[in-house]
Amino acid sequence: MDKIQILSETVAGQIAAGEVVSRPASVVKELLENSIDAGATRVQLVITDFGRTLIQVTDNGQGMSEADAKLAFQRHATSKIRETDDLYSLTTFGFRGEALPSIAAVSELSLLTRTADAETGVRVDMSGGQDMQVEPCVCDTGTTFQVRNLFFNIPARRKFLKGNHTEYGHIMTEIERVALAHPDVAFELSHQGQQQLSLPSQTLRGRIVSLFGKKMNQSLLPVEVETSLVRINGFVSNLESARQRGSQQFFFVNGRFMRHAYFHKAVLQAYEELIHEGDQPSYFIFLEIAPDQIDVNIHPAKTEIKFQDENVIWKILMAAVRETVGKYEELPTIDFNVADRPDIPAFGTGHGIEDMPKVDYNPDYNPFKTSGPAVSSYQAYSQPAKRNTDDWTRLYGEAVTHEVKEPQPGLEIGGLDQSPAPMGQIMDRYILVPGNQEFRLIDQHRAHVRILFERFMTQAQSHATPSQGLLFPEMFQLSPSASQTFSVLRPRFEKLGFDLSDMGHGAVSVQGVPAGFEGHDYENAIKGMIEECAEDATADEDSQLRTLALSMARSSAIPSGRHLSGDEMKQLVTDLDACSIPARTPGGQAISVVLTLDELVKRFG
Ligand code: ADP
Ligand code: MG
Repeated sequence: MDKIQILSETVAGQIAAGEVVSRPASVVKELLENSIDAGATRVQLVITDFGRTLIQVTDNGQGMSEADAKLAFQRHATSKIRETDDLYSLTTFGFRGEALPSIAAVSELSLLTRTADAETGVRVDMSGGQDMQVEPCVCDTGTTFQVRNLFFNIPARRKFLKGNHTEYGHIMTEIERVALAHPDVAFELSHQGQQQLSLPSQTLRGRIVSLFGKKMNQSLLPVEVETSLVRINGFVSNLESARQRGSQQFFFVNGRFMRHAYFHKAVLQAYEELIHEGDQPSYFIFLEIAPDQIDVNIHPAKTEIKFQDENVIWKILMAAVRETVGKYEELPTIDFNVADRPDIPAFGTGHGIEDMPKVDYNPDYNPFKTSGPAVSSYQAYSQPAKRNTDDWTRLYGEAVTHEVKEPQPGLEIGGLDQSPAPMGQIMDRYILVPGNQEFRLIDQHRAHVRILFERFMTQAQSHATPSQGLLFPEMFQLSPSASQTFSVLRPRFEKLGFDLSDMGHGAVSVQGVPAGFEGHDYENAIKGMIEECAEDATADEDSQLRTLALSMARSSAIPSGRHLSGDEMKQLVTDLDACSIPARTPGGQAISVVLTLDELVKRFG
């Protein structure tokens, strides 16, 4: 007996529809994209019952002629491509002419449309894609699609819809994507007769703030780069607002939302070591690229897109975001309205500013006197063995030479003369740096971690790490697993200025260490560094180097609780300000907080 049958038009249409229209949100997406393609500057959405009973989209785009309005519902009817070649130069959204027939096949649909030059509009009605009725109507230039009772004729699919809030969430997601991609287009949304969104034509920044809240505004840092291959612009969030949850992450290519796991990693990489692990920045990044550089998206519902030069774009993107973060990142300010600021005991809630501990400050020490007092602690922890004027100037260059001045005693907050006001140390832990309109509190240990980390990395990358040979090499034993990791890491250790020999069977001999690292407990420091790298077996060479450099920086940085002289503080602050990212430790912790004059005045009431 023969078993093969040709499917009826209706069944075939419903199956095909399933590819495009899987839930109310897919209808919203297709209709919004069509409106944008039609050149609309204003789009209104009306939804009832979370999209189950009504999805209506009205636009002021170019509209359709009567013939087009009828044709639009035929499969493969599109005004957007004619030749295969067009597929490779496509700039509009849909391009298969499949959305409208698919939506029509699974709903009761009405279309009202009029072109600018037509006297009357045309109205098309159908049910399940059948029984098309066409009649003239009165309507504005533009197009309205009314999609009622979605999946009325496919109960099985209706049943598969998730809860109301899930479906509505998907709808909102689609609206967000289209609205972000087209900030110049005004959007309105009402649900159950209540207005939910009203977005005027606005800038991208304005659109982001309208969608995600005013708080976003302060955190948006602009990204902008143009190369012959790709143009990238948009915004990323600052370090402060990176979150474990609730971050907004959007990529668009040529005005269309896309997902891109690989590019996502590029953005995360740019924030590496600047934010806490697991925290995520928000980003709104737009790529513009010649259409022939991206793989045409044959599946309309798919949001993954393949680029020809992914590696190159990855690098451009990562560098652009990193530059932005480094350039715009500002110091966090002390916010008295925020209850939980654990890092600032001196100003935490419960302490009035009058409880501020006495500023302890030592103006007497001068490192430029060759026969000064005993070796200072900051020097001891940041410099190679010999210490004299030459060393200071060689190591710190101009930053030091133009500051050879006798420090002035006393604190002069907002002093009128141009010479930098002296600093004070609080609780042997924070450095107070007065400015004209604000003062800064710097965590001395964290600041030094940042300084050393950048120094170690720069030296390692330029192969200019000064190494200090040890008169008496030190030997210690590694566990078999640590020994395994060590064999992989050894070249990185060398880059950082270590001279280590593998003596076999896990024995390591330390012959030399990076200049400035002398006097450490080498065994523990090196074991610790190996251990930290072992935690991430997938890390590439560069991240291993960073992990090692950070570990070294942490163990060499001046600790909290160490008393610093005035000049040591100055040097630390100068060095910190010369860092590429002075606001955060490589581990993402805040280094400084700022208290502005305004806040002080407010505080005193
Ligand atoms: P595609 O968008 O892939 O061309 P669709 O099925 O989404 O396919 O739409 C078919 C055609 O109907 C479009 O090419 C366009 O000419 C026309 N059309 C659809 N929506 C609108 C609209 N809102 N305004 C004007 N024309 C539209
Ligand atoms: Mg379309």
